[in-house]
Amino acid sequence: MKIGVLAAQGAFIEHEKALQRIGAEVIEVRLSEHLEDLDGLIIPGGESTTIGKVARRWGLIEPIQAFAQTGRPIWGTCAGMILMAKQVMDGAPEQPTLDLMDIAVRRNAFGRQVDSFEADLDVRVLGAEPFHAVFIRAPLIEHVGEDVEALAQLEDGTIVAAQQGHLLTTSFHPELTEDDRFHRYFLELSD
Ligand code: GLN
Repeated sequence: MKIGVLAAQGAFIEHEKALQRIGAEVIEVRLSEHLEDLDGLIIPGGESTTIGKVARRWGLIEPIQAFAQTGRPIWGTCAGMILMAKQVMDGAPEQPTLDLMDIAVRRNAFGRQVDSFEADLDVRVLGAEPFHAVFIRAPLIEHVGEDVEALAQLEDGTIVAAQQGHLLTTSFHPELTEDDRFHRYFLELSD
């Protein structure tokens, strides 16, 4: 299984390590050629405006959109989720987007007071054991389209993980914990 990680900025190395731990081959994506024989692609967390601008400079926006069209899975974590959303609220001016998934997200939604927090989430597709989620200046999902399934919610009902067919998003950072279940779930989608 060959998984690409967009290596523009942010927490791409942590994703690579998690993927390697579970036996995937990892390619750092910086050129459109790197997408060619991948089974899946991860857009990491970091700074969505920077990641988007670098991806645009590298000429990767259209190739990633074409990659999604082939039905191969893409997973965006945190900033990656912002990049995948069709609608971004409170985005930066000129926030580049991949415009892939039918979700509306609010950037930096939890405000300055609660910049970062952790929560144990029920994620049915991962099994009974709660998933310990790390949120860092996270976006939240304000709205999901008809074809989108909410995979995890905070206690107040805020959606923080969602899936639309082969497209997966989490507003938290599974690559920063030892729990590899989200990475394994993504590999299953890529199978
Ligand atoms: N706040 C960042 C953004 O808007 C996302 C933070 C993250 O990826 N941890 O891009």
